[in-house]
Amino acid sequence: MELLHEETICCPYCNELIVILIDQEDHDQEYIDDCSVCCRPIHIHVMTNANDELVVTVNDENEA
Ligand SMILES: [Zn+2]
Repeated sequence: MELLHEETICCPYCNELIVILIDQEDHDQEYIDDCSVCCRPIHIHVMTNANDELVVTVNDENEA
């Protein structure tokens, strides 16, 4: 069963809105995805809050 969730994020480099797909069965994940506009690596952190909602945080690669 696929539970892919579409989330729109804002690239920390070029500020373009890009859509990413998140596997909701895989909570608390961190990964790098290249921006589809400027091709720079975006650090994406996916977690769930107390209400079981997805929270997506993006940073540029140099921000921890
Ligand atoms: Zn970008």
